Amino acid sequence: MSPLHKSDILVIGSGIAGLFYTLKVAEQRSVSLVTKKETVESNTNYAQGGIASVFSEEDSFQMHVDDTLQAGAGLCHRDIVEIVVAEGPALVEDLLNMGVDFTLEDKSALHLGREGGHSRHRIVHAKDFTGREIERVLVESVRQHPNVTVYEDHIAIDLITQHNLAKKPPLQPGDIRCWGAFVLNKLTGEVEQFFANSTVITAGGCGQVYLHTTNPEIATGDGIAMAYRAGAKVGNMEFIQFHPTTLNHPQARSFLISEAVRGFGAVLRNRAGDRFMDKYDSRLELAPRDIVARAIDSELKRSGDESVYLDLRHLNANEIRSSFPSIYERCLQVNIDITSDLIPVVPAAHYTCGGVISDAHGRTSINALYVAGESAMTGLHGANRLASNSLLEALVFANRAAQTTLSEAFDAPPWEAISEWDDNGTYNTDEWVLISHNRKEVRTLMWDYVGIVRSSLRLQRARRRIELLKNEVEDFYKRTSVSEKLIQLRNITLLASLIIDSALHRNESRGLHYTTDFPAADPALEQQDTVLSTFDSR
Ligand SMILES: Cc1cc2nc3c(=O)[nH]c(=O)nc-3n(C[C@H](O)[C@H](O)[C@H](O)COP(=O)(O)OP(=O)(O)OC[C@H]3O[C@@H](n4cnc5c(N)ncnc54)[C@H](O)[C@@H]3O)c2cc1C
Repeated sequence: MSPLHKSDILVIGSGIAGLFYTLKVAEQRSVSLVTKKETVESNTNYAQGGIASVFSEEDSFQMHVDDTLQAGAGLCHRDIVEIVVAEGPALVEDLLNMGVDFTLEDKSALHLGREGGHSRHRIVHAKDFTGREIERVLVESVRQHPNVTVYEDHIAIDLITQHNLAKKPPLQPGDIRCWGAFVLNKLTGEVEQFFANSTVITAGGCGQVYLHTTNPEIATGDGIAMAYRAGAKVGNMEFIQFHPTTLNHPQARSFLISEAVRGFGAVLRNRAGDRFMDKYDSRLELAPRDIVARAIDSELKRSGDESVYLDLRHLNANEIRSSFPSIYERCLQVNIDITSDLIPVVPAAHYTCGGVISDAHGRTSINALYVAGESAMTGLHGANRLASNSLLEALVFANRAAQTTLSEAFDAPPWEAISEWDDNGTYNTDEWVLISHNRKEVRTLMWDYVGIVRSSLRLQRARRRIELLKNEVEDFYKRTSVSEKLIQLRNITLLASLIIDSALHRNESRGLHYTTDFPAADPALEQQDTVLSTFDSR
């Protein structure tokens, strides 16, 4: 019999959402937290800029709401935007009280940065390593909590639902109930059963679906894929944000040069040395990210160059070094002194706006399954995320999902009736080349055909190719003993197909989804989310 764990709550993922949620429920419930590598490894750990939140007297909730709605291009859910903006400051203060060392203006006030799309200074940050500082404090608190058991190197494969009962009942939408997850212990190679009355997905986004991404290797969309396979509704997967400025250097590909650098006064130049943003938007370098990314894409396509350049040479060198110590050091490692050299940059996949659909309380369409952070589609971002709204959303929804979990009592799982993980008939393969080849194929296909600028022809071609790859991967998955690489390949292939299907669904250009066949927004599609679910096809 495979190892079996029982707790009140199972948390999948240890970024800001998973850790904050855990700390909010752990006083009253026992928690198992599974995470696929070491605890800190997450998108959160790489966040540089900060958390958008209203602290300045010159700012207001209304202004933050308006900026978010404007970036979201007619798809934000206004009620959710208002909730997130209003609940943010208290939760940022929670982090301060837990010991997060945010940069201060003076002894009493937070230093507030400014980023693209924000009409006021409102980015709370810890120099340029905000995410790392948040992870440091949250991981420490979670580790010390007696009600929490952390399982590192444990990768969740699939959720446990009625589908895993030895005797499967007929199901209607709304009937599905989550009882935990099957999880691969990477150290033993065994699949373990984690049973829980409630489960929360906080497994982050899916940047790894694309060849070029700012996201670390963990970001393979596992949480979204698991929920979708189990029958949850997912939404707005066509809206992938590309960060306009990642370092383009052979030894430091996809290292992010934060938006805060442009907020600080850096300008963009093409290879000829000309500043070009004035051709695209009156807000210049501080236009929203999609506009800056498309402008760079257009400059690169027109010139055939591999990079455009960020220029900080006109700014004070000491202030640059003290404001951006990580970026300064990382660039120096590849012989770029950002105070005196131009920084070569290109766009890369950065943020997943869509995800598992959540209501205002963190509930998914599956009973006893909650979601928070980048895995979720709450309605905050709409068609485009405003910079630094994601850490904020993760805090607010982790807190909301935690309060909802505590207020809803679900029975213990009928664990004796649930079938164990069945790997009969599978074998260990030495054909790993198939996995690495397919992985590269999916990521290249997505980069080439489903990137910053799309067209119906390219999307349809991508659809045909991904269907073939999906069948190949599923076939391989059924015959082969489960492994981390295979789990992730299966998930990025599914995520790629969800992104393509959603993009094909949306016959307009809006926010991050730009297609040359429908270059304008269609007013009839305002407030229309793209929703996908497997349930109907079962
Ligand atoms: C380079 C970079 C800079 C950014 N800068 C900012 C910023 O300045 N401001 C801002 O608001 N946002 C920023 N973002 C976005 C923001 O960091 C993320 O949206 C946010 O951190 C997501 O938090 P999360 O907890 O949802 O997911 P993550 O932090 O990605 O955590 C996901 C966790 O789930 C685990 N996991 C995944 N799959 C599995 C599985 N199958 N089984 C077990 N565990 C699993 C991972 O190991 C990880 O622990 C940035 C992102 C990047 C990549």
